[in-house]
Amino acid sequence: MSIEPAVAAADAAEGNAWGVFGADHAVAVLQRAIEGGHLAHAYLISGPSGVGKGTLARRLAQTLSCLDPLPGPAPCLACRACRQVEAGDAPDIERIAIGGVCDESGHADHAADNSTRLRICQVRRLERVASIAPFASPRRIFVIDTADDLQTEAAHALLKTLEEPPATVLVLLLATDGDALLPTIRSRCQELMLRPSPVAALTAALVAAGAEADEAHALARLARGRYGVAQRMRADPTLAVLRETVTDDIERLTTAGRNERFDYAETLASRWQREREATLATLELWREWWRDQLLAAAGAGTSDSGTPPRYSTAEALQAVRAVQQAREHLLQNTNAQLAVEVMMLDLPVRA
Ligand SMILES: [Zn+2]
Ligand SMILES: [Zn+2]
Repeated sequence: MSIEPAVAAADAAEGNAWGVFGADHAVAVLQRAIEGGHLAHAYLISGPSGVGKGTLARRLAQTLSCLDPLPGPAPCLACRACRQVEAGDAPDIERIAIGGVCDESGHADHAADNSTRLRICQVRRLERVASIAPFASPRRIFVIDTADDLQTEAAHALLKTLEEPPATVLVLLLATDGDALLPTIRSRCQELMLRPSPVAALTAALVAAGAEADEAHALARLARGRYGVAQRMRADPTLAVLRETVTDDIERLTTAGRNERFDYAETLASRWQREREATLATLELWREWWRDQLLAAAGAGTSDSGTPPRYSTAEALQAVRAVQQAREHLLQNTNAQLAVEVMMLDLPVRA
């Protein structure tokens, strides 16, 4: 699960008035819709983790509830409403994420039950709250984090809300993988796709945010064009070390034989017994690396070198799914080593 860092407007590059780096197009679309009074009732904001989906959702919510909006329109980021959104405690905004709350009396805390999906009970809560008029702003906003992790029944329930939404409701679905959503859900949302930025552009943005040139370049390269990822590593250098190590492992294993892959699976599985969070973070990097290959295969990559994609779309997609499945199997307490070995076997090999 990704946690988007709070990025102040002044902190990002000058590309757009909302200060969401690399999202100029999406911001322009939303600004036009707000000004023209034709904002959709549901948006699907898709793109890799750390690319700015959460920040874009927050800026949209702030623009809609700001007490003193700037022309554009853009949020002032200083009023009470803007600050409440930034802090995650605005009364009319509800975030729905894996492990979140529901209304079902018999349900234990989903944060403690290793949920790997958004549950139908969480969507039922959304339905109920959506029918209540907003308290302080013109819209009641639901931010569905990792909408690509909706349980099938939960997705069908959500569909009902998206079909006949109350006029005061705005649903923002954030997804790493827009393709993983039900086509019926996707077709009821307007999609805004965020992509990683070229390394040079991200380097410049980090320098503008106060990083030294060398550090900025190293972070931008390691973050592969994701502003949020680069800022997180800047704040916590241990993340950069983890990322470097895992990336080296992934690169090495793309050409490694069966034995080497199984050795790695054994290491990862035994680490899972001791350090669950760190192992999940490692798997998240695996998934991200393969998602980048998928973007490159689809011709939408951020490669600065102009090298051709290394994998076909089908290969990269299979790899993304393999990593996702390993993650789920681990969380469901199946045999950890088997789960990672299966993943290793499902990844394409290059001689
Ligand atoms: Zn404001
Ligand atoms: Zn529940």
